[in-house]
Amino acid sequence: MRTITHWIGGKPENGTSGGTAPVWNPATGVQQAEVALADAADVDTAVRSAAAAFDEWSRSSLSARTKVLFAFREIVNARIGELAEVVSDEHGKVVADARGEVQRGLEVVEFACGIPSLLKGDFSDQVSAGVDVHSFREPLGVCVGITPFNFPVMVPMWMHPVAIACGNTFVLKPSERDPSASLLVAQMWADAGLPDGVFTVVQGDRTAVDALLDHDDVAAVSFVGSTPIARYIHERATATGKRVQALGGAKNHAVVLPDAPLDFAAEHLVAAAFGSAGERCMAISAAVAVGGPGDELVAAVAEKARAVKVGPGRDATSEMGPVVTAAARDRIVGLIGTGEAQGATLTVDGRGLTVPGHEDGFFVGPTVIDGVTTDMDVYREEIFGPVLSVVRASDVDEAIALINANPYGNGTAIFTSSGEAARRFQRGVRVGMIGVNVPIPVPMAYYSFGGWKDSLFGQSHIHGPEGVTFYTRAKVVTTRWPQVAAAGAAGFHFPTAT
Ligand code: NAD
Repeated sequence: MRTITHWIGGKPENGTSGGTAPVWNPATGVQQAEVALADAADVDTAVRSAAAAFDEWSRSSLSARTKVLFAFREIVNARIGELAEVVSDEHGKVVADARGEVQRGLEVVEFACGIPSLLKGDFSDQVSAGVDVHSFREPLGVCVGITPFNFPVMVPMWMHPVAIACGNTFVLKPSERDPSASLLVAQMWADAGLPDGVFTVVQGDRTAVDALLDHDDVAAVSFVGSTPIARYIHERATATGKRVQALGGAKNHAVVLPDAPLDFAAEHLVAAAFGSAGERCMAISAAVAVGGPGDELVAAVAEKARAVKVGPGRDATSEMGPVVTAAARDRIVGLIGTGEAQGATLTVDGRGLTVPGHEDGFFVGPTVIDGVTTDMDVYREEIFGPVLSVVRASDVDEAIALINANPYGNGTAIFTSSGEAARRFQRGVRVGMIGVNVPIPVPMAYYSFGGWKDSLFGQSHIHGPEGVTFYTRAKVVTTRWPQVAAAGAAGFHFPTAT
């Protein structure tokens, strides 16, 4: 059995814990590898290596860092296909979709290539007689990233290119369900000329996470994953004085108004609900059908959902792959059953789907559940599978109220041809990322990504300008170079500008 290792001090390391977890191929249902699980001693070795590399890397020039970032960008770009296949084999998503996630990650690398401009401070000349003020930002130290299974390349790339460009060293704890891509990325950083210890991978589960959260040499923690764990990470790491951004789960609503082009909206709803088998934090999991054309919309969505081609991620004709594990499949199937038991209508039922030649794969077909009410489990739970729940509202204000009553606030979208309704919607919803006729409004790398309410713990959104702020802290310097002959006496009053 192949063992997926850590990456410490610029090379693969087995660690000493001896613990492992299985890594499955979701398309076949067969275990394909085991991943090492770090214990506290392995984590300590990894963090110490990162801490030892900080001094030199934090003092490296902006042009030296930029050179490494540009080289890294070229290497990832050249090996995008290889990365996408590794992602597909462990996550299950189709290769074209995996290429898309690497591409979106690369955009953050490209953003970080502009670090000389991003780290420019301010300068104010002559704030007082003979006195100037300037500000600049310094890196924090060892920054940690703890990431989910659903984007094993893109989500870590929301973090490490920015953290490293700012002069930090970075320890990544990827999901134990699809850990291989991170090792490939580590090799790419090394090939790009990044010094040993600046990028580290420590594989593991909650034992490794707790050791990272409690380690004295860790300055900051970026987390992306489910809401209960995000809340826990934020509480535990802030308790030891670390800077924390913890992005949680989601229940993303797409509101379809009666004036929206129906076929356009149905097409986009299906792609946003079932792409990547619904395992996207920005997937649309609740459609809010407003007014009379609701039944027509559900019929159009159902027809398109039945036509989605489900198959292994490596098959270029597949549009949707399996879900990540047997446990995920069983949970999703269970929730669909609960929806039916609680009185919703299974317009399209994806349970029991088998893919010829892949009978043991973890497949669930696209599922559309109509007549969903807000008290049902399929509405209240984040299903994180290919399940679209349809709720009804009578107008845009009722739809806004529905969204605002939901504890999550990651993303939302509205389909309409009314500028007035779209404007009311974007101003009214308490949600971090909003699409107008765009179902998955993931911000570009030069904006910051993040939700509101239970979708984010901490103040900072991720990547973009807020990423640079998160991974640095400011100094403000007030300077006077007196002409010795003209130097006056120091006053004891509180300094004011004169
Ligand atoms: P998860 O919360 O189970 O795991 C995320 C990370 O936390 C993994 O590295 C895992 O090893 C670790 N972890 C799991 N349980 C832990 C515990 N008890 N103590 C300490 N660490 C623990 O999430 P997942 O299933 O890998 O990913 C899916 C979730 O991530 C969904 O809820 C999805 O919405 C969310 N997500 C959110 C965003 C966002 O931007 N807000 C992006 C992607 C995914």
